[in-house]
Order: sequence, then structure tokens, then C-alpha cells
Amino acid sequence: MTDDNWKITNYSRKYDFENVIFCNDNATGLKAIIAIHDTTLGPAAGGCRMWTYPTEWDATEDAMRLARGMTYKYAAAGLNLGGGKTVVIGDPKRAKSESLFRALGRFLERLGGIYLTGEDVGTTLRDMEYIANETRYVITLPKSLGGAGPIGGATAYGVIQGMQVAALKMNRTESLEGLTVVVQGLGAVGFEVVKQLSSLGVKLLVSDIENEKIRAVQDKFDVGVVSPEEVYDIPTDIFSPCALGGILNEDTIRKLKCRIVAGSANNQLKTEEDGYTIEKKGIIYVPDYVLNAGGTIYDTDRIFHGSHNHERAMEKVSRIKENVMRVFELSEAERIPTFLAADRLAEKRILEVGNAKKIRTHANL
Ligand code: NAD
Repeated sequence: MTDDNWKITNYSRKYDFENVIFCNDNATGLKAIIAIHDTTLGPAAGGCRMWTYPTEWDATEDAMRLARGMTYKYAAAGLNLGGGKTVVIGDPKRAKSESLFRALGRFLERLGGIYLTGEDVGTTLRDMEYIANETRYVITLPKSLGGAGPIGGATAYGVIQGMQVAALKMNRTESLEGLTVVVQGLGAVGFEVVKQLSSLGVKLLVSDIENEKIRAVQDKFDVGVVSPEEVYDIPTDIFSPCALGGILNEDTIRKLKCRIVAGSANNQLKTEEDGYTIEKKGIIYVPDYVLNAGGTIYDTDRIFHGSHNHERAMEKVSRIKENVMRVFELSEAERIPTFLAADRLAEKRILEVGNAKKIRTHANL
């Protein structure tokens, strides 16, 4: 089945997907795709993206690619969740309405908890509130509705845990004191990375395409500023990408003059080949989805315990340190790039937990 007419089937087969569900509601205009990749570890979870897509296949591929990414992220984080994602087809600036998200909520309710949604590009906490009117299966909610509230701080905390492990590998000490860190992107996570690093004796250089974001950071912390164009050329100990994906590519890796790359941006490596190139250049790359899981670990605490608890959730986030250590150990032992070591560890956990689940208990007699 190599035919273009069988793209969804072929992609599902290639990456072993469980479900791809199309939701349609003429009355509200809802057109959405829910991709459920793998539920071995637990119910699938992953955000709800709203975007304009040129074709149905573009929307479906995006949902499937992102859902599969969530499977790896949760597996590597040690969470008992599988990977899923929703894509709502439409312009988030024009096509949103309460009724559209409530219609989506009813479709999620129909799935009976096999998939849990949350905020993503193009959706907000307000949209999640609309969904939550119709279903319990929403993770990201404001504190007033029992959710965890903003998660950027937890994500940044996880990023810094990973930086410390990388510093240990580089300098035989976890201390970041005296090191230079270039932070690219000063949004929800980047701002928090700067805030948390500024109390650790780090020399900070920051970059953003929005002057307002730079000013907000300059007002509060002692930082130098680098233009978005020169950010890859600056000699530094750590480069921390906290803006866009795909920024580690043929062009940028050639320029990089850092010893460690550790940031929150999703899908930093443009291609797998770039993962090998960065390794060959002797740069320690901390795999993005292992490092940036702090927010989702924090956010999903309530799912496992009934209500959110800050201390418990942050304790779980701090385990990112062990997860990064394991990635480095495997990478050294098998002489493979760190991105590949992360994938292998995630796949191993899914396989082993899946095997353990074959043992019958009273629940499945
Ligand atoms: P955000 O939208 O709040 O901030 C992104 C910032 O990057 C903005 O200030 C934007 O102006 C800036 N930016 C865009 N292009 C840039 C460029 N070329 N150079 C410099 N700055 C640029 O996003 P966020 O929530 O802080 O997330 C940042 C990254 O981390 C994203 O890739 C996101 O997917 C990922 N991530 C975020 C979280 C979270 O908790 N928010 C969790 C996991 C992963």
C-alpha cells in the first residue's frame, strides 16, 4: 500500500498507531482529528492544537506526528500516560467559539477517558474551560478550576536540572556558577529559565525577536542582549533554545560555539542526521523531550492523585535529572547520539511495562 490514497493507513502501520478519529459537527463548524498513538502505559494525553491546514492530510499528519512525540515524552518522563493529540482545523483568530469547543468536549467524553486533552498552539485556558463544561478529560485548567495553572516555571526547572547534569559531564561538577548561558526566546519558559538561572551565578545573554520581551527581562535581571541573527555565533558554555523547533540544522550546527545545548523548544533537531552531526562536533545535546517534560509532569499530577499538589509535582519534575543521566549513560555505553539513546530508553520502558501488564490480576480475570 504505497499509494498516496492510503497515507493514513501507511503512516499508522509504520508507527503502530491505535486510532485516528475524525470529529465533525456542522452546527458549530467543528472539524477535528484526534490521534491516539499508544496506550500501553496509560490513557493517551496531549494538547489540542488549532491551526489552518492546507489539506486534510497535513492536519492528520500533524496530529499523528505530535501524538507519537507525546508517547515518547511520557515514556521518558516515567509517567503512566500514552501519546495523543487533537488538531482542530480552523483559524484560531477567527473560527473559535464556545460551542465549537463544547462540541469537541462532547466527542472527548464519548471516548470515555482513553484520551485527555490540554492547551497547545492556537488554544488557551479559556478554550479548555469550554471543553471542561462537557467532559472531565481535560488536563490543563486554571487553578480556579482545580488545575495546575501556568506551567512555564516547572518546564524551566526541568531544563535547569538537565543543564546541571550536562555540566557534570562537561566539568565534573553540577554547578553552573560562572558559566555563560545564551537563552533564545523569552516567552513563558525562556523568561523563567532566565529568572531561575540568575540566582545561580550564571552569566546570561538573551535573545528574542520581540523587543518588549527583552525589555521585560532586562528590567528584572542582569543580562546581556544578543540579536536573533548572531545567537548561534556567540561563544558560550550553554546554548538554551526556548523558542522554535528545527533550530539545530546544517546551517546552525556549523556556527555553534557552545559546549552544551539544553533548552525547552520542541523538535530542536531538524533531521536525525543533525543529531549525529552535533554529537560529532563534540557538543553535549540534551534531548528536548526528556528535558522539557517538566510542565507536563507538573500539569498531569492531578490526573494520578485526584487533585494538584505543588510539592509533589515539583518532586516529580526534579526526576528529570535522573532521566537525563540515564540518557547520557546509555549514549556512552552504546556509543550512540543522545537523541537516539532517549528514544531507546522510551521504547524500552513501553515494551517492559507492556510485558508486565500481561500478568493477570483480579481486574482482568
Ligand atoms: P512562548 O510562545 O511563550 O515564547 C516563545 C518566545 O520565543 C517568544 O517570546 C517569541 O517572541 C520568541 N521567538 C520566536 N522566534 C524567535 C527567534 N527566532 N529568536 C528569538 N526568539 C524568538 O512559548 P513557550 O511556552 O515559552 O515555549 C517555548 C518553547 O518550548 C516552544 O518550542 C514550546 O513548544 C516548548 N515547550 C514549552 C513548554 C511550556 O511549558 N510552555 C513545555 C514544553 C515545551
